[in-house]
Amino acid sequence: MKCFCCRMDFDSELTQCPRCGFPVLLRPDGTQITEEDLKDQIKAYRQELAGEKTISIARYFWKKQGEKIALDRKEYVKVADGVQLLKEGRVWLNQKFARTVSSPRFELHYRLRDGGQEQRIFIEVPKSVSFWQLGAELNGDMSFSFLLKSGAEITKTEPISLL
Ligand SMILES: [Zn+2]
Repeated sequence: MKCFCCRMDFDSELTQCPRCGFPVLLRPDGTQITEEDLKDQIKAYRQELAGEKTISIARYFWKKQGEKIALDRKEYVKVADGVQLLKEGRVWLNQKFARTVSSPRFELHYRLRDGGQEQRIFIEVPKSVSFWQLGAELNGDMSFSFLLKSGAEITKTEPISLL
């Protein structure tokens, strides 16, 4: 069967999803309960899972040190939290970034909770010459992708699990 919460396919003998833990519920007569019947519970469970997640990206500040450019500091900017992403589906950071054209893809440094471990993922550089705007978009299976918008063009990363 397919998990109502995270869409993972798993063996119907199991009593809960091995990925997210959402229970397999039956009626007293043994028949399956539908996704529609569990709409509210699915929503609440997703919010609980995503509630601990805060998606932020690292931003680097550089300074001139003599003849060289050195890293001055690094800070994390919040893009969205899990609950906001579940509610809105797609979230954009207000701040715009200067376009970087040195390579066809760009490495994002991000983390999924405050103080959590930093992870990295590549995103394709849009061909449009406009400013960059970064966002995040929820996929149907409790994962999200980072988005990079430039003019009318939007590129996105591979899905990142919110579980
Ligand atoms: Zn699941």
